[in-house]
Amino acid sequence: MALITKHKLPVWVMEPLRGGKLATLPDKYAERLRALRPEESIPAWAFRFLQSVPPVTVVLSGMSNIEQLSENIKTCSESHPLSKNEVVTLLDIADEMSKEKAVPCTACRYCTTKCRQELDIPKLIALYNEEKFTGGGFIAPMVLGSLPKFKRPTACIGCRACEKVCPQGIKIADIMADFASSVSVW
Ligand code: SF4
Ligand code: SF4
Repeated sequence: MALITKHKLPVWVMEPLRGGKLATLPDKYAERLRALRPEESIPAWAFRFLQSVPPVTVVLSGMSNIEQLSENIKTCSESHPLSKNEVVTLLDIADEMSKEKAVPCTACRYCTTKCRQELDIPKLIALYNEEKFTGGGFIAPMVLGSLPKFKRPTACIGCRACEKVCPQGIKIADIMADFASSVSVW
């Protein structure tokens, strides 16, 4: 469902709750948000954040029952953009959450010059992070399925030539192997 938040030429944002993964947060993060806005639900924070980004006019969010629909309509019928302090807190939480599961690839692409399989390693690692962060969403299987087989993690031959030039010391071959075994491609 599209929730129109302002009357301008639409800039669309999809999946504000990452397919429901951000509808609940671990207590340590939820408590920090509740301390700032006790009246706000956790899902509402995603919409309030988008209300703080001026170009965003339309938010596309999936809903699975009438309660979610009512709640989202109530949230979006009022504009309460986040303060600077609230944005800083939210981004700090996002940073901590991504560090918990993410591979710290900076997308410098040094590794790609060494890969004889010509894999787009940073792109694959970004998808791997997406998969780990969401606990198994639809994005990684869908994107991998759109790639030719010789561009998927299964094409990695484990030579580790890429790892010799990675400034982050990332065990790329292990990540490719884990990715290949953990995701069912669409
Ligand atoms: S280990 Fe895999 S990703 Fe790294 S260079 Fe070899 S084939 Fe490419
Ligand atoms: S060299 Fe390392 S940090 Fe740079 S793109 Fe490759 S995996 Fe990422």
